[in-house]
Amino acid sequence: MSGTTTLEDFRAEVRAWLEANCPPEMRQPMTSEDDICWGGRNARLSGPQRLWLQRMGERGWTAPTWPREYGGGGLSADEARVLAQEMRALNCRSPLASFGIWMLGPALLKFGNEAQKLEHLPKIARGEIRWCQGYSEPNAGSDLAALATRAEDRGDHYLVNGQKIWTSYADKADWIFCLVRTDSAAKKHNGISFVLFDMASPGVSTKPIALISGKSPFCETFFDNVRVDKHHLVGQAGGGWDVAKYLLTHERAMIGAIGERSAAKPLGQQAADQVGRDASGRLDDPMLRARIAEFEVDESAFRLLMERFGDLSKAGQAHPAFSSALKYYGAELNKRRHELLMSAGGSDALEWEGAAANEGASARDWLRSKANSIEGGTSEVQLNVIAKRILELPGA
Ligand SMILES: Cc1cc2nc3c(=O)[nH]c(=O)nc-3n(C[C@H](O)[C@H](O)[C@H](O)COP(=O)(O)OP(=O)(O)OC[C@H]3O[C@@H](n4cnc5c(N)ncnc54)[C@H](O)[C@@H]3O)c2cc1C
Repeated sequence: MSGTTTLEDFRAEVRAWLEANCPPEMRQPMTSEDDICWGGRNARLSGPQRLWLQRMGERGWTAPTWPREYGGGGLSADEARVLAQEMRALNCRSPLASFGIWMLGPALLKFGNEAQKLEHLPKIARGEIRWCQGYSEPNAGSDLAALATRAEDRGDHYLVNGQKIWTSYADKADWIFCLVRTDSAAKKHNGISFVLFDMASPGVSTKPIALISGKSPFCETFFDNVRVDKHHLVGQAGGGWDVAKYLLTHERAMIGAIGERSAAKPLGQQAADQVGRDASGRLDDPMLRARIAEFEVDESAFRLLMERFGDLSKAGQAHPAFSSALKYYGAELNKRRHELLMSAGGSDALEWEGAAANEGASARDWLRSKANSIEGGTSEVQLNVIAKRILELPGA
């Protein structure tokens, strides 16, 4: 935005551009997981998905606030908010879902060197490379610093051996950001490093983990003498814990944001479509109506809280642990939303396949929402962080 352009001029410009450039198909509600565009080398995209990703990528609006030299849009936080509002108003789908944008990008912007930023960020913003997250291990989840995957120093490279678990979409990802132990003699938080490598490297293998929902985003990921060149080390050797924690604050804020993510139709309307309306057009179930009203008030308050967090972050005044509070509450809200949709849908909502699954209530989505309070650090762990770091409670 130029110095003389106001935010309202910018809004008008954004709206006109979106109207002209967002393909009509990309303004329809998503009906299946195939509608989510994750990008990557092997992405199978429909024509409109590809066009939408390309157009948004060219403007840098897949990563609106990243600097232009790294493939971002160079927008201020206020402009990015306007873009998000206008996209919502026109029902534009997100052009790209990406661990690179949500998690790795912010960490690279803070801890990466110039060569790493130039190599990776533009490819993330254009959706060319899909990333996965190699943090959890069979004996290191909540106690992540107990991780045991070893990276042996071999001069110009590391040799990585070990196993990760719950690696979402590892079988579809092109690259991994990974926590490894480079110093087993150091205190557990100090011996960890943060490295990047190609999932096509010799010695990397993945094995999907089947889930009750019938879908399996998870993998076990194995490393057997994987060579990782040292220029793929982010930050200092042994300094990976700081990078990991910073990345987690972004992951938690991102997961928290699902609490404010409204479907194209307000929850009350979705429920009324299922249950029916009374003579005055209201949802024909006073108990459910009250629960939905309460939910919508809480959701609005949460959206305002997210905005306030954005403003405080912009001013450098956000509490570094506040993302734990957002993650905790956002996860709870999203679970409540799915409980309400299931209540509205009744026994039809339990249908595993078919029409009901696409009309608001979906048993698969309901089950998936349960995982919100585990992924990115469990709710119990977030409550510990809130007690200790934000409330500074005695004994916490
Ligand atoms: C949908 C989803 C996607 C995920 N994607 C990824 C991914 O892409 N990459 C990745 O690396 N990992 C991923 N994970 C793993 C996730 O980060 C871990 O599951 C999570 O950190 C918890 O670790 P754990 O499963 O080992 O449970 P544990 O740490 O064994 O915890 C078991 C139980 O004990 C409780 N507990 C543990 N410690 C404490 C404590 N100090 N105080 C109170 N309660 C405690 C926990 O809250 C939990 O209820 C994903 C998980 C899910 C559900």
